[in-house]
Amino acid sequence: NTHLNPKYTFDTFIVGGANNMAHAAAVAAAGEPGQIYNPLFIYGGVGLGKTHLMQAIGHEMLKNNPKARVKYVTSETFTNDLVVSIGSGSQDAFREEYRSCDLLLIDDVQFFADKRGTQEEFFHTFNRLHENNKQIVLTSDRLPNEIPKLQERLVSRFKWGLSVDITAPDLETRIAILRNKAKAEHLEIPNDTLSYIAEQISTNVRELEGALLRVQAYSTMRNADINKALAADALKALKLSKAKGGLTVTTIQNKVAKYYHVSIADLKGKKRVKTIVLPRQIAMYLSRELTDRSLPQIGMEFGGKDHTTVMHSCDKIGELTAKNDDVKQAVEELRDELKN
Ligand code: ADP
Ligand code: MG
Repeated sequence: NTHLNPKYTFDTFIVGGANNMAHAAAVAAAGEPGQIYNPLFIYGGVGLGKTHLMQAIGHEMLKNNPKARVKYVTSETFTNDLVVSIGSGSQDAFREEYRSCDLLLIDDVQFFADKRGTQEEFFHTFNRLHENNKQIVLTSDRLPNEIPKLQERLVSRFKWGLSVDITAPDLETRIAILRNKAKAEHLEIPNDTLSYIAEQISTNVRELEGALLRVQAYSTMRNADINKALAADALKALKLSKAKGGLTVTTIQNKVAKYYHVSIADLKGKKRVKTIVLPRQIAMYLSRELTDRSLPQIGMEFGGKDHTTVMHSCDKIGELTAKNDDVKQAVEELRDELKN
């Protein structure tokens, strides 16, 4: 199990002006791992294809050599694995695991910022792999020297190979991405509608895909074919929900956890004590109200709970705010703080 998303291959990656350098470097690194750009450092804003491209290198390498040891982790997982290994006295196993890869993919290394222990350990992981000509690929939302409190020796190593950026795709690329996605989802969408969506959504690829799914959901709901007018309605609704403040479930969880002095783990966990159940239900309630996430999506973000649990929580808090002043006040304070 390499934790690669099967969809994130080179085949499904659309190349355009904004990503052709990064794409070419990724293809080269996959073709001759450890030989050309080591490490390969891909950086850019969210939703622009860094994770996709990085994992495509993994797929390609496995295609060429099914026995290759490919490891993909986010930087947070690397830290967690390290912490767990220290806690359980299994640091040797941790080191063996990370230092024996043929290809190590670490996603979003900007989260190494400030983590001294992680940086120390990764320094040694890096050195070992590099000495053995094993390919290392890193992504980040910024350049190595822009990551706060990243040790100088790591900054310099991250620059040993090649740093390439990915920027927002131009209109033609966005249309091509939508066309591909529509095909993959077996959607019949006229060209002028695809162009319209691509013109409206110019931020990043994830939003572009989200918009397409929203249009698709709209057409199912209305039992109508997808055309420009329907897309316009769907995107208007999407923009309205964005205008709700662009809050995420994580932001809400953090706020509520702090307010009630409980841990995020407890909010996401299963404990049934009253002091945790109430904050958990309030966090779900506010997530439903202040984000455009669906009930199942909210359930997922609370440790994989069922959508009926989320629904029940929302009902419950709805009732409580009507008859319990403490709850009412807490919800109002939290809501105000989150909106500002
Ligand atoms: P990042 O890691 O930069 O935040 P992701 O790799 O997660 O971005 O990409 C977000 C979504 O957009 C994914 O579903 C990905 O498959 C898709 N995507 C991004 N760039 C492209 C592209 N050039 N071609 C096809 N799909 C893309
Ligand atoms: Mg990513």
